[in-house]
Amino acid sequence: EAFNANVAAAGALNAFIVTTPEKAIEAAKATDARRAAGQALGKMGGVPIGMKDLFATKGVQTTAASHMLEGFTPEYESTVSQKLWDAGAGMLGKLNLDQFAMGSSNETSYFGNVISPWKRNDGGNAAMAPGGSSGGSSSAVSARLCPAATGTDTGGSIRQPAAFTGISGIKPTYGRCSRWGIVAFASSLDQAGPMARDVRDCAIMLEAMAGFDPKDSTSLNMPVPEWEASLSGDMRGKKVGIPREYRMDGMDADVLASWEQGIAWLKDAGAEIVEISLLHTKYALPAYYIVAPAEASSNLARYDGVRYGLRELPEGAGLQDMYAATRAAGFGPEVKRRILIGTYVLSAGFYDAYYTQAQKVRTLISRDFAEAFKQVDVILAPTAPTAAFGLGEKTSDPLSMYLNDVFAVPASLAGLPAMSVPAGLNREGLPLGLQIVGKAFDEQGVLNAGLAIE
Ligand code: GLN
Repeated sequence: EAFNANVAAAGALNAFIVTTPEKAIEAAKATDARRAAGQALGKMGGVPIGMKDLFATKGVQTTAASHMLEGFTPEYESTVSQKLWDAGAGMLGKLNLDQFAMGSSNETSYFGNVISPWKRNDGGNAAMAPGGSSGGSSSAVSARLCPAATGTDTGGSIRQPAAFTGISGIKPTYGRCSRWGIVAFASSLDQAGPMARDVRDCAIMLEAMAGFDPKDSTSLNMPVPEWEASLSGDMRGKKVGIPREYRMDGMDADVLASWEQGIAWLKDAGAEIVEISLLHTKYALPAYYIVAPAEASSNLARYDGVRYGLRELPEGAGLQDMYAATRAAGFGPEVKRRILIGTYVLSAGFYDAYYTQAQKVRTLISRDFAEAFKQVDVILAPTAPTAAFGLGEKTSDPLSMYLNDVFAVPASLAGLPAMSVPAGLNREGLPLGLQIVGKAFDEQGVLNAGLAIE
């Protein structure tokens, strides 16, 4: 009943697309039974979680918040969600998101925008964006509708919504969590990860989500460390890099102040602070907005009206007409924009000028990080250049929306683990997040620095 009441409260935030409280109750009962029988409980034993509606869940509608997949009920379970159920978690429902995970505010969802539980302290009642694309996840965890949720992060979609709503979230090293059964956006960037109230919960949940999967050709064949058991906020002997290129002109004063505060907290925990340079930072955003749409245009070619979800078959229509009508009706404007950009940059005449060039930039970004990590253990920067903005404030200007991802995309392009942890409120009373980027495979170092800040 408590689950049901909570899930109903979620209606006001529009965080869930479908709710499945019976599944959460089933997991809780199974956990009780194990406890009564003296059996070991799973890492997530009985914990009710929200599942971003980008993960295929067997027998439960999986939409990617699109009209294209409305009513699509998979015959299979994604590897990550299966691992969570195997660890004892139960599903409260499928969480809203930006359509096909494309967006930074959750406003591109076919099922309507999600609302953040946070308000500005100006006495007004303006609805704030929960961030995106994992906006249902951030809103639900922040409002305490569920203790944890899954997210996916292609260019910041775990970290930026976590920052906007005062929660924690980690994108692990590319390949840590299997992509199998997750609706694909940009396959060389997509990574799943946990979003939760604190760093410890993220560590526990990531242990349950991660691990080698032969069904994903880019899955890391490495053991999953016991991150939670090794958590420590002691930063003595650790070097923290502060990238000078992230200190941009006209940066929000509150964001700068929170960054300074984070530096002070890490110093208090014993860290040595080192100024570093990530020289090609300013090219990361344009490179991301070429690579990600290019891969998206290819991945989304599968939605043809034949294999999944929606089919629009006008009277007397032929095959081409069916493709066109289905895709015209099934995809929202942001998804269409990405497909157009993607097919353009991959077209014969422009491939070298855009796509090849962006891939070269991607290599330079990776090299910047590799150089920096010769000097430091982790890097600290703001998660986003601003706190949450109001719903509707950026909708008409895609470029200003994309700019919100400026600090998040470099770690995505380099495939590095990166986390956002809450770091105070701005003068409007809205949460700010700090981002910790680590070396490949060093989630432990990232989580430890996160704990020192939290
Ligand atoms: N906001 C970014 C985009 O729209 C990132 C999305 C994501 O990480 N899924 O592409």
